[in-house]
Amino acid sequence: MPDLPVSELLELDRRHVWHPYGPMPGRQEPLVVESASGVRLTIAGEPDELVDGMSSWWSAIHGYNHPVLNDAVREQLGRMSHVMFGGLTHEPAVRLAKRLVDMSPEELEHVFLADSGSVSVEVAVKMCLQYWRSLGRPAKQRLLTWRGGYHGDTWQPMSVCDPEGGMHELWQGVLPRQVFADPPPVAYEESYADHLRSLIERHADELAAVIVEPVVQGAGGMRFHSPGYLRVLREACDAHGVLLVFDEIATGFGRTGALFAADHAGVTPDVMCVGKALTGGYMTMAATLCTSRVAEGISRGEVPVLAHGPTYMGNPLAAAVACASIDLLLGQDWRTEIKRIETGLREGLAPASELPGVRDVRVLGAIGVVQLDHDVDMAAATRAAVREGVWLRPFRDLVYTMPPYVTGDADVARIARAVCAAAREG
Ligand code: PMP
Repeated sequence: MPDLPVSELLELDRRHVWHPYGPMPGRQEPLVVESASGVRLTIAGEPDELVDGMSSWWSAIHGYNHPVLNDAVREQLGRMSHVMFGGLTHEPAVRLAKRLVDMSPEELEHVFLADSGSVSVEVAVKMCLQYWRSLGRPAKQRLLTWRGGYHGDTWQPMSVCDPEGGMHELWQGVLPRQVFADPPPVAYEESYADHLRSLIERHADELAAVIVEPVVQGAGGMRFHSPGYLRVLREACDAHGVLLVFDEIATGFGRTGALFAADHAGVTPDVMCVGKALTGGYMTMAATLCTSRVAEGISRGEVPVLAHGPTYMGNPLAAAVACASIDLLLGQDWRTEIKRIETGLREGLAPASELPGVRDVRVLGAIGVVQLDHDVDMAAATRAAVREGVWLRPFRDLVYTMPPYVTGDADVARIARAVCAAAREG
C-alpha cells in the first residue's frame, strides 16, 4: 500500500476521525507519526525526531519498537493471534495470570483479563456489587471515592470520576450516584483520615466498595497524596464490611517508584485494576485481580458466575507481549532507573517554580508535574514543547511528563526543559 501524502492523510483525518476528547472531526490538528523507536517519535514534516515525554499515556515504559517485545509478538503471531476464551485457554494467558499474581500484593489470586482499563474498572465494580448480592446484601451497591479521581470513560468508571469540573460533568444526574470524599491532601492529616472513616461508617449499609487511585490521582489532576490514607481506607473498610478497590492502571509497574502504588503502604486491596504499561504499550489489555474471598463470595450466589466475557478476552498476542514486558521490567534494576529519572526531573523542573503563573511543581518516581494558576493554551504549550524537540500533551492547568523508563539522562533533561517551556508559553 503506498503511503498517503501527509496533506491528504490530514484532510481525511479531519473529515472522518474522532480523537480522544477531540472536538467534532474537522477541527483538530494532530501531528502525523510515521514511526517510533526507543524514546523517539518520527513526525511527518518535522526535520528532527521528538523525544516522547508521555510514554503514550503511561504505557510505553520500555520505549517503542523494542526488539524483545517485537519478538514476543512475532513468535506468538506464528502460533495464533486470537482465539475465543470461553471454554478454551492458552499458555500466554495462563503465564500472564501467574506473573500478575506473583508480583502483585499478596492474596490477590484471581485474574480477569479485560481489554481496556475502563473495562477492567467496570469488571471490578461488577465483582464488588455481585459479591454483596451473593451474600444477600443487595442494598450494598454504591461506591465511595475521593474527588479529583479518574477511572475511565465507560459508565461505572465515569460515575467515580471527579464530578465537578471533571471530564464527565455533562453526565451528572444520569450516572449512578456515588459517595464522594474530599480530595486527599498531599501530607497525612488525621482530620482527613477521620473524614474518610466517618463517611465509610455512615454509608456502610449502602457501600459495596471504596475505589481509589492509590498515591497518584492521574488524569483528574495529577495530584499526589500520602500512602497513609491507603492504610486508613483498609482499616475502615474492614471495620465496616466494605470492599477496597485500587485502580493501579496508571500507577502500576513501577511508575511511582514501587512496583504498585499499594506497596508504598503495604496494603492489599480486595480488587486491583492494572492496564496501560501491562503490555509495555504494545497492545490493548488490562486486568482485574481479586482475592479468593471475593471470587468465592461471587461463586456462592444464586447466579454463581461473573457475567462478563469480552470477545477479545485474554488475547494471546497481548498476553504474550505483556509477559515479555513484565520479564523485561523485573529483569532489570527498575528501582534504580526510576530513581534516576526522578532525580533528573527534580533537577530539570526546579526552575519552573520561578516562572510566573506556576502554582506548584511536583515529582514522584518517573512522573513530573508543573501546575499553573490558569488553564494552559494547549496548542501554544504543545508547540513550545515541540520546538524543544519533545512530545508532551498538556491539559487543563497541567504540564506534565511520564517518560519511558529507558529515557537517558540527556533526554530527561531535555524533557524537563520542554515542560518548563510549555509552562512558560502555554
Ligand atoms: N483508570 C486510570 C487511573 C486511568 O489513568 C485510566 C486511563 N487514563 C483508566 C482507568 C482508563 O483506562 P483506558 O483508557 O485503558 O480505558
